[in-house]
This record gives sequence, structure tokens and C-alpha cells, in this order.
Amino acid sequence: KAGRTPLIAGNWKMNLDHQQATVLVQKLDWTLRDKKHDHDETEVAVLPPYTDIRSVQTLIDGDRLKLKFGAQDLSPHDSGAYTGDISGAFLAKLGCTYVVVGHSERRTIHGETDETVNAKVKAAFRHDLVPILCVGEPLEVRQAGEQIPYIVGQLTADLAGVPAKDVAKLVVAYEPIWAIGTGEVATPDDAQEACAALRDTIAELYSGDVADQVRFLYGGSVKSGNVASIMAKDDVDGALVGGASLDAGEFAAICRYKA
Ligand code: PEP
Repeated sequence: KAGRTPLIAGNWKMNLDHQQATVLVQKLDWTLRDKKHDHDETEVAVLPPYTDIRSVQTLIDGDRLKLKFGAQDLSPHDSGAYTGDISGAFLAKLGCTYVVVGHSERRTIHGETDETVNAKVKAAFRHDLVPILCVGEPLEVRQAGEQIPYIVGQLTADLAGVPAKDVAKLVVAYEPIWAIGTGEVATPDDAQEACAALRDTIAELYSGDVADQVRFLYGGSVKSGNVASIMAKDDVDGALVGGASLDAGEFAAICRYKA
């Protein structure tokens, strides 16, 4: 797939405290080590709650683990009177590689608009964090057959004013809302259709060369039993995994989809 390294990222959502986090990361590392997992071949990242990140970082750095880590959100601002918010500067200082931006749970529960998401994408790049930008349609949009224009509209708005040099590093997750946490998974063809349309959008907005560098993940009820058929698709470069990332054995099996 044109030199793009596959990425399997575990979005823990609001699960696992800092002690449970270190247990899971250790188990995940042992399991992958046991299977001689090559992290250069398939990158593995965990995305814990903010309060776990320092513990996860200490473990990963201290034991020189090859796992990457990141956060689930960030403030669009760098510092100041924003009670309860977390700056990308803090995440970068902790060694985060990734930060999820625009997850559907943030868009629906916290009312984040494309404008907010766009500001967060820019904040992430300001601090050298790689945004995992989530887009995806609700059920009624899928039922109306309007999913492609819907997600293309989200991506276009979320990237307004973001320069090509940053977009080339971007990760985009296609997460149809009806497939998140429901056990209902999009077909590999649905995932391919969406990721290809999103890649074409980047090619039109920027260039084919930039589009070839962007990694597209599928997210929505990914499990060890369905990951390989989705990963087989040309434009799918990885998976964003929610529920199944909370079990070290199951998540490791997803990361080992090639085995
Ligand atoms: C997610 O929330 O990013 C997700 C894909 O969740 P799940 O795997 O549980 O559907």
C-alpha cells in the first residue's frame, strides 16, 4: 500500500484507571513480544484517558516498549482560562504521538462542530502531534445512501486551512456511527468505498502525492475475527478499535491480523 505503515490504535474511551492501564499495557506488550511482533511492520498505539497517560508513558519509556500512545482529545487552545481542558503542549511533553480529534462521541455528546474539530486539528499539528481525525455518518444518512458526500463534507471542513506539509502526516479514521460499539461492522467493501473517497478528496484538495501518504483507518466493531478482511482492502491502512482494545489478548490478535 504505497509504503504506508499499517496502524492499529486502541481507543479505550473512558475505561481503565491508571493502575489498570499499566496492567493492560504490560499484558499487551508481553503478548506481542511472545508472537515476535514487528512494530515497524504494523504500528500499535494505545489511546488511554488523560489521567493514565503519565503512567503509560513511564512504563513504555522505562522498559523501552515499542508501543506508541496518545490521547483521545485536546483543547483547540494552547494555554489559559479553559477550565478542565488539556493543551496539546502537555500531551506533546508527555511523549504522545497521536491524538484523536472529532470522535463521533465528542461530536454528538459534546456538540463539537466541524469548526471546533478544524481548530483542534490545527492545535495538534502546532504541537507535532499526529491527529487521528474521525469522520463518519449516522444511520439515517447511510440509509439515505448519502454517506460519501456526508463524510467528504466533514473531511473538507475539518481540514480547512491546514497546509499540505501537515496533511501528509495525518491519520483519518472512517467510523460509521451505526457501527461504533454496536457489534454491527461495515462490510470490507463499505470501508474501502469510504476510505477511497476520502483519499480522493485529499488528492483533489492537495495532491495525489499527499493523498498517498495519508493513512486511513476503519473503526466500528473491529474484532480479531473481522479485521483481516477489512485490512485486505487497498485504501484501508489500519483500524481504530474501541471495545476490543480493552482486552490485551483480543487487541493483540487484532494487531497480528497478518499472522
Ligand atoms: C471507537 O469508538 O473508536 C470504536 C471504533 O469503537 P468500537 O470498536 O467499540 O465499535
